[in-house]
Parts: sequence; C-alpha cells; structure tokens
Amino acid sequence: MNPSPFDPTAMLAQVQAWSAINTGTGNLPGLAQQAAALTEAFAALPGTVELVDPAPVTAVAADGSAFEKPHGQHLVVRVRPQANRRILLTGHMDTVFPADHPFQSQRWLDDETLNGPGVADMKGGIAVMLHALLAFEQTAGASALGYDVLINADEETGSLASAALIAEMAAGKLAALTYEPAALPDGTLAHERGGTGNYSITISGKSAHAGRNPHEGRNAIVAAADLILRLKEMENDDLTINPAKLEGGAANNVVPDHALLRFNIRPKSTAAMEAFDNNLNTLLGSIEATHEVATHRHGGVTRPPKAVDPAAQRLFDLVRTCGAELGQDIGWQSTGGVCDGNNIAACGVPVVDTMGVRGGAIHSPQEYLIVPSLAERAALSARVIERLSQGALTQGVLAEGTAA
Ligand SMILES: [Zn+2]
Repeated sequence: MNPSPFDPTAMLAQVQAWSAINTGTGNLPGLAQQAAALTEAFAALPGTVELVDPAPVTAVAADGSAFEKPHGQHLVVRVRPQANRRILLTGHMDTVFPADHPFQSQRWLDDETLNGPGVADMKGGIAVMLHALLAFEQTAGASALGYDVLINADEETGSLASAALIAEMAAGKLAALTYEPAALPDGTLAHERGGTGNYSITISGKSAHAGRNPHEGRNAIVAAADLILRLKEMENDDLTINPAKLEGGAANNVVPDHALLRFNIRPKSTAAMEAFDNNLNTLLGSIEATHEVATHRHGGVTRPPKAVDPAAQRLFDLVRTCGAELGQDIGWQSTGGVCDGNNIAACGVPVVDTMGVRGGAIHSPQEYLIVPSLAERAALSARVIERLSQGALTQGVLAEGTAA
C-alpha cells in the first residue's frame, strides 16, 4: 500500500462540514441534510449507496399511553456483495446535542485540537472509515473483500430504529469495525462492554377522595415507591439499576391512580441480564398483590453485554499488530459504556468498536478531536481491512482447525 494515501486537509474539511450540521437524534431535517452529505461522500466508493427507512419505535408517554417516535433514515453502502469474504463497518450520524442545545459551533483549542459537536463522536470516525476504505480500494487485493457500511441515525438513543438492520447486516460477516472514538485519548480500544436496558413501568391504582374514602383508593405512587426500593435490592456485582424518573399523581386531596416509573439497568453478563428480566416479572406480580394495583412493563434490554470471545480477540490482536507496524501502540480496556458493537457482538460477529478518532469529553460541550488522529486512525483501519482481505482471520481459524 502507498504509505500515505491520506489527505488530512480533506478529512478535516469533511469533519468540519459535517459537524456544522446539527444531527441531534430528534432533528429529522438535520439528519436528512447529513444523510445527503454522506450519500455524496460515500459515492466515491464502488458499490451502491441507499437510504433505508427507520423501523417503527414505540415509546411510552407520561400518561402511560404508547406513541410512535419518529427517527431519521439510515445510510447503507454495499460493495462487492458477492465476495466470499465480507466485513461490516458501522457508524452513526446522530449526536446527543438537539437543535436547541447551546453547543453548535466549532472552536480550536490549540493547533491540533478541535472542539465541536460530533467531531469525535462520531463525525470524525465516519471520515476515518471513509478514507480507510478509499485507501483500501487502491490496494491490489481489494477485489477479494466485500463490505457493507451502515451509518445509522439513532445510535445515541439506543439504535431501536436500526437494531434489526444491524443484525441483518452483521449476519454472515467475517468481522465488523465500528468507528466510535477510542476509549482513551491515547487510542486505547474498548474491549468487553456491559449491556444496557431501559424499562417503563406503568402502575394503575384506583383514585379516591383523600379525606372521604381514602381506604377505597389504591395509591399508584406508593406502589411505585415500593417498586423503586425493591428494584434497588435486586442489584448485585453484575447488575446495577438506576430508577431514573417517576411521574404521576395529581391534587393533594386525591389518592393517585397512575404512576410511571422509568429505569435503566446495566448488566455485566448475559446471565445477569436474563436473571433480571425473569425476576422483574416476579417482582411486578408481588407489587400488584401487595398494593392491589395493575402494572404494565414496556421496554427491556436494548444492548446485550458484549463479551470478547476467542474470534473477537483475534480481531483485537490483528488491530494491535497493524498498529505496531505503523508505530502505533494499541492497547484495550473494558468499559461500562455501550454502543452498536454490543449488538454486533450479540450476532456472533467479531467486532472492534472503537476504530474512530482519538479525542475526548464526548457527550459534553467540551467534546474534542485530536486532529492528527484522523489520518493516523485511517491508516490503522486501512491496514486492518487489507489484512482481512488477505484472509487474516480466516487463516487463523484454519490454522487452529488444523492444529486440533
Ligand atoms: Zn458514538
């Protein structure tokens, strides 16, 4: 491969143009504008580029009613779909900053550090992915590898409108690379990840007059309070639970007949995730019996815990080797954060999900990109993709099979 096929100036210009477009997950016009810009940029690759409609997503309003939540379209690129060896590359175009958030513009912190919405998470990562692929297309063996690219529009709210698409596109792939920023500003990758789940529980009691006939009421808020305390008792070393929002009630002289509790769980293992789901049903049954209320549960685990199995470890080792060849020292560490890498790993596909830029302070107005990392990480990715095209992981599997 040509040692430096990367144009840092062009990469930075793209990141700056994309960061200037607000793409909060709920900003559909902004996402449409971003999708158009990405369609144009990814047209530089061979293959097809299309926009795919989001899957319908139902959410629960404060009054307990269900409603459909709109999302932006996802970008899908398919290159050489007939190839035997195929990989998946994923990224997201949305950010956590809505259109009315004060953090909308870029600022240089020093000569090589750019502060701006999405510059690290992950518009910088999308530029890394694109330019790695453009460089890979210049290599002699590119025809041996096919790949799909997915850039979804709802990662920051849990990928509910793209989860099925992620699973569909992961199926049959040799490996996957996801372009979240590195776990640490020094380039360290995220290794194992915990999972996450979001639940909404509605509790229906019975209203009554607080003075005249309170004994005939069934207080939904009291039941919810009991539920909160008993949820916290379910925590263990492999599971944390965060009761996040409690809504309900009305006037002081009325026994409240409605409450809505929203909470988040972070399971470290699949066993902890499944145990919680079962125990929650038992707990809700107990709350119903104790307080004579009805409950309804909505939601569940959206991103299962991501373990690193031997196949995934080989992919990490490959990234480290490629890094060493480029003079980049690549390490990794476990994290409690989640991303689409969790969903991909759940499909049994090896994934390294922090192939994006070096930077930091993501999800805050201090978010920054270390600009030289654009070309640096693109070089790393391009080399990993080239090795995959040469059979890096498949040869590993064959060698093991032969040894056995
Ligand atoms: Zn991200």
